[in-house]
Amino acid sequence: MPVFDSRSFKNHEQVVFCSDEATGLKAIIAVHSTALGPATGGTRFWDYAAVHRKVAPIDVAESRGEQDAVYDVLRLSRGMSYKNAMAGLRLGGGKSVIIGNSKELGTAELMRAFGRQINRLGGSYYGAEDVGTSPAMLAAAGETTDYVCGLEGGDYGTGDPSPHTALGVFTGIQAAVKHKLGKDQLTGVKVAVQGVGNVGRTLVKYLLDAGALVSITDIVDANIEATKALGTVDVVSLDGIHALDVDVFAPCALGGGLNPNTIPEIKASIIAGAANNQLEREGVEDEELRKCGILYAPDYVINAGGIISVESEVYREKPDNSARREKVLRIGETLSKIFATSDKEGRPTGIIANEMAEDIIRSANEVKLAAAAE
Ligand code: NAD
Repeated sequence: MPVFDSRSFKNHEQVVFCSDEATGLKAIIAVHSTALGPATGGTRFWDYAAVHRKVAPIDVAESRGEQDAVYDVLRLSRGMSYKNAMAGLRLGGGKSVIIGNSKELGTAELMRAFGRQINRLGGSYYGAEDVGTSPAMLAAAGETTDYVCGLEGGDYGTGDPSPHTALGVFTGIQAAVKHKLGKDQLTGVKVAVQGVGNVGRTLVKYLLDAGALVSITDIVDANIEATKALGTVDVVSLDGIHALDVDVFAPCALGGGLNPNTIPEIKASIIAGAANNQLEREGVEDEELRKCGILYAPDYVINAGGIISVESEVYREKPDNSARREKVLRIGETLSKIFATSDKEGRPTGIIANEMAEDIIRSANEVKLAAAAE
């Protein structure tokens, strides 16, 4: 696979492959950009070869898995640069992946070995919780490095980011409804929430409080029951949620949900939800949605509440709830700008957001280079 010329690698400052024989650690740390501050993004622990083992001999499966891991970490770290830039944070973009089954391999010893690898980067990368890692695992890494964040407790710990993500998604839905439907209030607006986990459930609470009519689905019954306890919601089937006759479809489960199979069935005029990587192909599905008259809130812009909540921890500042809330609420304003530019230029919102993020990063790089030259 060509790496340097791939779209995902584009402008990466540094990519580090690391291992530790004693614990079985195999990891990749990608630093896309430090123009705005330390590259910050979660640590994903994933068995990338699992899907290939079903169809290929073991050595081929492992090799394909490693290629997938490289692609994943590059794509995600570039995405973090864009997300952090659009949220107006003093953070650059990075990501790390640990390769393997986290339940079998994810010991405290391995996480400490991983912490030592992060430490060698001297603060240019900060890790955080992501798919396959837990607060306890991050805390173990934190025994060998100061460069992890999203921790519970302590003077600077910012804890669970999901309530902040939910607030950001709520404010994004408000902005989208105002732009598309011309409504200042959500009273009577119909919203379908796919996935009522940590973010989705809190989002439902905000929506109900605002008078919206909410439909939900989830693969876990307990999460549906917990959401029903919040107020009146309509529970619908898993495979029908995206096709409901509603105003807003809010994907809050997994990525890839916006694809050539689902888009023709979508009746909502707005898509605005927390899930990462909602578009199967960037620049393709968002253009298709635009052509269908569906307003798409770019995922990494609307779901930035969590990373906003973590910023202070990277800078060893005590969390300031009102400053953090103010920043999260600005997500709505940023989205409104993206929507207006998209309408004016007749181009998809996802591409507009990418270009705005690239401009912010480019300007910061220029300032940094000029300062270094003085
Ligand atoms: P979560 O795991 O707590 O919730 C996800 C929910 O989706 C679970 O209840 C799960 O059962 C459900 N689900 C999974 N597959 C489903 C399917 N096919 N149909 C319906 N429901 C399904 O995760 P979360 O923290 O709430 O995050 C939700 C999404 O938002 C994820 O894509 C995550 O990457 C993204 N995100 C989360 C945060 C955050 O702060 N937690 C920040 C940014 C982005």
